[in-house]
Amino acid sequence: RRYRKTIIAGNWKMNKTLSETRAFAEEIKDMLGRPKWCEVVLCVPYVNIPAAVRLFKESRIAIGAENCHYESHGAYTGEVSAEMLKELGVKYVIIGHSERRQYYNETDFTVNKKVHAALEAGLHPIVCVGESLEQRELGVTMELIAYQVKAALAGVPADKMRHVVIAYEPIWAIGTGKTATAEQAAEVCESIRVVIRKLYGARVARAVTIQYGGSMNAKNAAELLAQPDIDGGLIGGASLKPADFTSIVNDAN
Ligand code: PEP
Repeated sequence: RRYRKTIIAGNWKMNKTLSETRAFAEEIKDMLGRPKWCEVVLCVPYVNIPAAVRLFKESRIAIGAENCHYESHGAYTGEVSAEMLKELGVKYVIIGHSERRQYYNETDFTVNKKVHAALEAGLHPIVCVGESLEQRELGVTMELIAYQVKAALAGVPADKMRHVVIAYEPIWAIGTGKTATAEQAAEVCESIRVVIRKLYGARVARAVTIQYGGSMNAKNAAELLAQPDIDGGLIGGASLKPADFTSIVNDAN
């Protein structure tokens, strides 16, 4: 575990207005302890990023975005580039979340382009991979995950891999209250590390942070985070409540 960083990242999705973001910051301020070796991130809606960067400046929380475009600028109405996020003080960006793959036509191809754009801009991409319930029942989980990881990382050189985070998020566990068992989650996270070892060698594989995501909460976090190949969590619903999020961070410390 000492080889790599533990990262607890919240994914707020399309939640919290500016005033709600302020209220959250106020409430969590005194809850989180001193920075330890666990990194804490909140990925918030674009419009709240400038305020979030300011509000959490003195805290141990780094700010992330939930998406970015794959070009640095241009005629892409309504889009936001990684470069723009970087200049605001954003450190992480979620790439290829299953909701974006499902509702906004993100493909392994665009995910790969976005990973490159994020790295180019100096952001840390949190690359999401995960199988559907149908795929799990068909028994193709490992093959699918290996394919998604390879596709997302195509063309990424080994020396950039220390900036990359992988999040294993089984689609059937996201927002459903159904958590993967610690064994199921650990098995897939371990297989992701094997894929990265084959691509980049043991040193890179040992150093890469692999998170689990999918209905992680204050009750089940400790057991999931105790697994040797689970180096943190990507947390949706439970990241919206300061007490729950703090409890998960403390389980990771
Ligand atoms: C997510 O969307 O990244 C996620 C894990 O959501 P939840 O924790 O709500 O399942």
